[in-house]
Amino acid sequence: MNPTTLHMPPSAWAASAPPAPVGTPLDTQAQADVVVVGGGFTGLSTALHAAEAGARVVLLEAAEVGWGASGRNGGQVNPGFAFDPPRTRQKYPAEVADRMIRFVGSAPDLVFDLVRKHALDCEALRPGWLQPAHRDTALPDLEARCDAWRALGVDMRMLDGAQTRALIGSARYTGALLDPRGGSVHPLAYARELARVATALGVRIHARSPATALEREGGGWTVRTPAGAVRAPRVVIATNGYTDGLIPDLKQSVVAANSFQVATAPLSPALSQQILPGRHAVSDTRRLVLYYRKDAQDRLILGGRGQFGEPTAAADYAHLHKAVAALFPALAAQPIDYRWSGRVAMTVDRTPHLHEPASGLLVALGYNGRGIAMATAMGRAIAAHLGGAADALPFPVTSVRTIPFHGLRRAYVGAATAWYMLRDEL
Ligand SMILES: Cc1cc2nc3c(=O)[nH]c(=O)nc-3n(C[C@H](O)[C@H](O)[C@H](O)COP(=O)(O)OP(=O)(O)OC[C@H]3O[C@@H](n4cnc5c(N)ncnc54)[C@H](O)[C@@H]3O)c2cc1C
Repeated sequence: MNPTTLHMPPSAWAASAPPAPVGTPLDTQAQADVVVVGGGFTGLSTALHAAEAGARVVLLEAAEVGWGASGRNGGQVNPGFAFDPPRTRQKYPAEVADRMIRFVGSAPDLVFDLVRKHALDCEALRPGWLQPAHRDTALPDLEARCDAWRALGVDMRMLDGAQTRALIGSARYTGALLDPRGGSVHPLAYARELARVATALGVRIHARSPATALEREGGGWTVRTPAGAVRAPRVVIATNGYTDGLIPDLKQSVVAANSFQVATAPLSPALSQQILPGRHAVSDTRRLVLYYRKDAQDRLILGGRGQFGEPTAAADYAHLHKAVAALFPALAAQPIDYRWSGRVAMTVDRTPHLHEPASGLLVALGYNGRGIAMATAMGRAIAAHLGGAADALPFPVTSVRTIPFHGLRRAYVGAATAWYMLRDEL
């Protein structure tokens, strides 16, 4: 990566976040207990929690804190991952499955606890997360999900058509699942606020400091940047969809796919009362999920999968403009003020990956587009693991496996996207 070109792209979040923390490039030879590479939620939460436990932490970020997916996402703080509890239990041994279910189910609690504990100024709200069925055949799956989590004590409930339409303000749906654990944050503000707290706890955050080499030296590691280096016994790699060649094969172990978003001009008070009056976060049941919410300025912020390459023109977002108008005909002529995209790291098994390619080197990535809560909780778990806690890691530690024909990913992601779009239409 070339850090001089890595400016925060324009977005509704960049336009309304508190100022970026000052993080000067690393230009010395430093020592630490832990070096964290990557300044998104995974890296920031690892750094914050490790520092809280007394470790000396240096965080290296190629661009600026929140520059990756963490500062560009939809801000939906959602529990769970690709598999509901029964499927998780089918796929993994009982003890592993139980740990995973507990982890993904409680991850949003950590986000909102951090907000409270550190008074993070990030527009946090927790009215719940809605999953409306994009067609009736999706309702049985939602009902099964509802039953599975209710059996674990979560107060989820199914909403009928009228209730769904009242909470969303769209006539498109005939039912939805309401998950009380979900909510939303201003994602870039959340990232910058985590950085503020981490810095206050002693973490040295260096922006515009890409880790360019990682060398085993003695019992520890040296992480090099263009103008400096840090030595530490432990290194955590938290580079997710922006992973480069620092760790052999890591980039080829995930597919970095683009997710696109648009933000409308602020809605009038009358429209805002009709559309998402309770400020729920929404993700529908399409294979290529459409997700949306309102922000603090009453903009509708809607996202979905986009083309594989980086968008270059407003036309690249045309499918999202259409989705806004289809869901909310009253917004058909609402100006779109911002369009932006970011990279999510997708894994073949749809589960986040934890790797330990060598002693003292830990890697966490692959939240498959649902990383606000999971990455935050992953950071805490990694910090606990580094501090010596047994069984702190929520997912099995696996070896780095490259995806076959990774070089053709553009073609197969494009083909899969077209196929799923067609199936969603049908
Ligand atoms: C458009 C979009 C919408 C999304 N919506 C949601 C949502 O609503 N809810 C949800 O839960 N999740 C959502 N996600 C997913 C979520 O944002 C991510 O899972 C999460 O932010 C991942 O955090 P991270 O810290 O692992 O990675 P990132 O935030 O991507 O951070 C990785 C960082 O590593 C840095 N880096 C890379 N290489 C180096 C290097 N060599 N040296 C130093 N630094 C390096 C990058 O500059 C980057 O800042 C969305 C993602 C996108 C892109």
